[in-house]
Amino acid sequence: MQKIVSLCKRRGFIFQSSEIYGGLSNTWDYGPYGVELKNNVKAAWWKANVYECDDIFGMDASILMHPKVWEASGHVESFFDIYLDCLNCKKRIKVNDPALKKATNTCPYCGKSGLTDPRKFNLMFKTYQGPIEDEASLVYLRPETAQGMFVNFLNILDSKHPKLPFGLAQIGKAFRNEVTPGNFTFRTREFEQMEIEYFVKPQEADKKLEEWIESRFSWYLNLGIKKENLRKRPHTKDELAHYAKACTDIEYNFAFGWSELEGIANRTDFDLREHAKFSSKDLKYFDETTKEKFYPYIIEPSGGVDRSVLAFLVDAYHEEKVKDDIRVVLKLHKDLAPIKVAVLPLLKNRPEIVELAKRIAQDLKKCFITVYDDTAGIGKLYRRQDEVGTLYCVTVDVQSLEDKQVTVRDRDTMQQDRISIDKLREYLSKKLNTEG
Ligand code: ATP
Repeated sequence: MQKIVSLCKRRGFIFQSSEIYGGLSNTWDYGPYGVELKNNVKAAWWKANVYECDDIFGMDASILMHPKVWEASGHVESFFDIYLDCLNCKKRIKVNDPALKKATNTCPYCGKSGLTDPRKFNLMFKTYQGPIEDEASLVYLRPETAQGMFVNFLNILDSKHPKLPFGLAQIGKAFRNEVTPGNFTFRTREFEQMEIEYFVKPQEADKKLEEWIESRFSWYLNLGIKKENLRKRPHTKDELAHYAKACTDIEYNFAFGWSELEGIANRTDFDLREHAKFSSKDLKYFDETTKEKFYPYIIEPSGGVDRSVLAFLVDAYHEEKVKDDIRVVLKLHKDLAPIKVAVLPLLKNRPEIVELAKRIAQDLKKCFITVYDDTAGIGKLYRRQDEVGTLYCVTVDVQSLEDKQVTVRDRDTMQQDRISIDKLREYLSKKLNTEG
């Protein structure tokens, strides 16, 4: 993990927020490569779940919502963490069961006895809408994107007239005032979620849940996560959220242990029923064939953008011995790699080579995310590109001026091909599987 954190800072993936002021704990900023990687993760998710599905509609709801939404959802009442403080080592311990103190009164970190009484803490960030800070203007920063989709259920029925099953998909920021944030970007107070709310007939919910678990599991594998680092973990009955009938987490084997990337839950008809009750709106679905009116069940695959990004980074990190050196390379899937091509002149003191390399880079930029770099010797330039996962390095040398060919180096195999400049776009298109 330390190596990942250090690479992220050194190469411009992720920085600590407000670092020049000493940083704000557990908040992170995505730098030039980080934002590309994050955007690529989101684009891959959107492509798989919106563009490639006939029955899923994308949307983008606001972060601030009517406060009643959070009463209906149960967040005001029960979105709590329970924690104890160790009087000895001062560590804060998040517990699922307040009986822990009674049972042991022992700190799991320092092993000494002396814990405070359990304290309950609502995880929702509060703020005020408008100039007056009173109860009437209280609003919350949404702790999940899901509710934005439930409250738009009726709008979607009226505007798209979909037949069951159909879904809504959304990517956006969520905020939780976590008691124990940490492990780099794994648990933060501001993060991004990628969520689908898939509305189904109640009798089809169990089957659809299984299908979604498989589909979401494959998504991570198809984007290169190693099979041995990914697992499905069904929730036990006592772990289930109050609204869920069943839930399976997709977990990644991080250095700090198996941890959740995404949860796929059968939320039953809880959400639509509750919102119907609190809003006094009819949120039932009318089945034209059977002439029945009912609340659909909801299958919810809910994943974190930041956690996925972290898993993709960790999984792609490789160190390999090359001659007497250690080569660090991020073997990111081609769809996720922030930079697809780097154009590097072999000799930067030869203006003809520099000019040709810049011209090639300019041309490639029209098709692929391409960078030009001449700020170091070729060995160092390769190392830099390997560390950020650039798929192909195109080197322009003296020979290129004569034979109008360049050397293309593959990130993973380090194999070099000599390619004619006028065939370069086509060659890279084939490799990257995109249109040239
Ligand atoms: P955890 O048990 O780890 O707190 P959760 O079960 O509360 O997570 P959900 O409410 O199911 O999480 O949220 C869906 C997804 O949102 C999670 O799988 C995770 O990827 C992401 N997520 C939730 N909380 C955070 C957080 N504090 N920081 C980063 N990502 C988060």
